[in-house]
Amino acid sequence: MTAFDITLYRPRIGQAEIDAVTDVLRSEWLSAGPVTEDFEGKYAAALGVQSAVAVSSGTAALHLAFLALGLGPGDEVVLPSLNFVSAAAVVALSGATPVFADVKGPHDLCVDPDDVARRITSRTRAVVAMHYGGHAADLTALARLARTHGIALIEDCAHAPVTDSAHGVLGTVGDIGCYSFFATKNLAMGEGGMVVARDPATGDRIRRLRSHALTVSAQQRHRGGPSLYDVDALGLNYRPTEIGCALGRVQLDALPAAQALRRDAVRMYREQLASLPGLTVPYADRPVEEGAHHLFAVVLPEGTDRAALQDRLRAARIQSGVHYPPTHRFTAYQEPHRGGPCRLPVTEDVMGRQLSLPLHPGIGAAEVRQVVGALGDAWQEAA
Ligand SMILES: *Cc1c(COP(=O)(O)O)cnc(C)c1O
Repeated sequence: MTAFDITLYRPRIGQAEIDAVTDVLRSEWLSAGPVTEDFEGKYAAALGVQSAVAVSSGTAALHLAFLALGLGPGDEVVLPSLNFVSAAAVVALSGATPVFADVKGPHDLCVDPDDVARRITSRTRAVVAMHYGGHAADLTALARLARTHGIALIEDCAHAPVTDSAHGVLGTVGDIGCYSFFATKNLAMGEGGMVVARDPATGDRIRRLRSHALTVSAQQRHRGGPSLYDVDALGLNYRPTEIGCALGRVQLDALPAAQALRRDAVRMYREQLASLPGLTVPYADRPVEEGAHHLFAVVLPEGTDRAALQDRLRAARIQSGVHYPPTHRFTAYQEPHRGGPCRLPVTEDVMGRQLSLPLHPGIGAAEVRQVVGALGDAWQEAA
């Protein structure tokens, strides 16, 4: 299955997950239904909000957020380039222009509110904060900016399910919070996501756009509701499956324990990596109790041959990753209406030096030692 003994991610699936999925398969209702509704309710409660809308992916969550804002041609959205391509793609697909902003620096890979402020124009409709690796972006400053300019703050919480921070619970501080439950994420459904909106009317709109903006859902028809419906907006099918939500519901229950295991690994990494000269561990100044620790990212010293380092780790059967190749450098984003070309000095400085090390709830002390040992050996050879 894999070329690695130690992989970047590994889902944590137990008998409870297997039983939950099997129960749905026996229930004869496979699309979004009662389990989905219950998962939504439990997720909302965990965040401390009134309601949440489960969707088929994190990308669907972001797309629905921008559709609900009514984004279109002529509009601009400011977002970090050092991000997964998802948010930029759905902004562009909505007809709006992504405007890329820089990140703070090697110690904090989240978007820099000062740089966001410089890129806001009369066309700006929204700003996107992405909580890199599960660490909170500066939401207090970004929310202030958004208020001042009368624009929306969208939180890309793909790395941070149910995560408290100094600014509040991630995803509930901005206008709309979008979560991903992709296979590699801290809460894993294989494919899935969730949206929460501060304004209940926006939440309702998102819920209806998720299912073609039908006035009567398939589930309501199944329960004996009217068989005729109207369509009063242009919607999509971004519904999750009942099978996925059954898995998500169990993963939500298991999240606190899984997060504690991630924190244990992060503590060991931080302690053992302190001996590598010139290595930057982003967010190491924040208590380990803070953040969701989706990634364990490091920033290598200037001049390090990252590819050679990754080759040496690969030879030791250890997987490493890059998060992310910056969006503003992708071929599809070079046209002005896609935000390019542009200069982002901090992003361009760190983009060749970032490296992600294996992190998941199942990683133990021996594996962390092995990763740090292999990195140390590779370090000597690269020096
Ligand atoms: C995973 C991810 C997404 C997209 O989520 P999908 O569920 O894969 O569509 C968006 N943004 C970030 C930061 C992600 O890591």
